[in-house]
Amino acid sequence: MNKKVEKALNAQINAEIWSAYLYLSMSTHFASEGFNGFSGWMKKQYGEEMEHAFRFMDYIVDRGGKVALAPVAEVPVKFGSPLEIFEQTLEHEKVVTDNIHKLVDLARSEEDKATESMLKWYVDEQVEEEATASGIVDKLKLIDKNISGLFYMDSQLGVR
Ligand code: MG
Repeated sequence: MNKKVEKALNAQINAEIWSAYLYLSMSTHFASEGFNGFSGWMKKQYGEEMEHAFRFMDYIVDRGGKVALAPVAEVPVKFGSPLEIFEQTLEHEKVVTDNIHKLVDLARSEEDKATESMLKWYVDEQVEEEATASGIVDKLKLIDKNISGLFYMDSQLGVR
């Protein structure tokens, strides 16, 4: 497969695993704060990010490329309020969206039609990721610091 594309997809695999690791860190933070629903939501998000990474790995293998797993950088361990954490999640997903769009640009400039087509799934997925995070941020803003509201949201997200 195209070496430039292969390198960029391997970098994205690392970014997806970093995202998974970030959400896992948020999950353990929420668990230690007693927000088991938020914690469970973040653990599912961790699983989804790993799925995103696996999907890229399968694609590289299918194209006869080489998956190269690089070390995963450290993630934050200290976090703010639930609202701040979901705002952080939304901001992070916006960065990921930008990365995916840059991959599409690269696939186009390299005239790699198969990669461009494969990336469409990620472009659509990012629309959903941002909408989901943004919806939770909106609700948490309405709740503000109302503790019973927060625990209601916690129980709602726990059944994701
Ligand atoms: Mg992802």
